[in-house]
Amino acid sequence: MSSERIPVLMYHRVGDAHNMWERKYCISPQRFAEHMKALLQSNWQAVSIDDFMAWRHGNKALPKKAFLISFDDGFKGVYEYAWPVLRQYHWPAVMFLVSNLIGQKDTWSKNENPEGNIYPLLNRTEIAEMAQGGFSFHGHSRNHRDLTTLNETDLINETEGCKAELNLLGIPCRYFAYPYGRFSEREMSAVKAAGFEAAFSVQPGFNRTDVDMFRIRRLDIFGTDTSAMLLKKITLGSNDGRLSAWAKYYLKQLQSRLGLG
Ligand SMILES: [Zn+2]
Repeated sequence: MSSERIPVLMYHRVGDAHNMWERKYCISPQRFAEHMKALLQSNWQAVSIDDFMAWRHGNKALPKKAFLISFDDGFKGVYEYAWPVLRQYHWPAVMFLVSNLIGQKDTWSKNENPEGNIYPLLNRTEIAEMAQGGFSFHGHSRNHRDLTTLNETDLINETEGCKAELNLLGIPCRYFAYPYGRFSEREMSAVKAAGFEAAFSVQPGFNRTDVDMFRIRRLDIFGTDTSAMLLKKITLGSNDGRLSAWAKYYLKQLQSRLGLG
């Protein structure tokens, strides 16, 4: 039986965390490996973004526990620590790149990170290597600015410009992830007008085959999440893996079994 709902996991940096903020948005190599192992042991099966899209369009059936792994921003740590683990499992993944900062650092994080730390991003050689080994690359704007704060010219530059820039680098891209997950109708229209075929949000939940192509849902997986928490999140389709969320989940299941849902 094909899956009716597919969760998309969102990771950011993989590596060492140096403060509380980083511990949330960066996962240690060891914990990332534990996460993947826990998913495998629970019979989850990573699928490629192309298979996910084919499923969304009703052109492909996917296993019941299919899920998609996504990485935002393009950190070098994904090449160093996550890719070897994924390769071992033959698990594909998708990465959303900041096109103007390839081979540089995440300068946009300076203002968010309490200590102003910035970290290296993938270069073209690494991207080309990963593209041969299971990774798909798509767009995450040119400079990682909050699109909702931009004037029309800058908005076009960050969307259309991102697609053009990645194309020039030999990275054809079809899908987009909104920086900070921030967008409204205006930004969504700009992403569509730029020629992207779908966009990923940070709205939690499962994706069903009727999910809006420009509001694809993702679960935020933190560096502080244990494997147990990850399994709760992916099972519940929620960023909230706490007991109250479980109670709601079981109540819903019970109601539907009793024909009350
Ligand atoms: Zn980002």
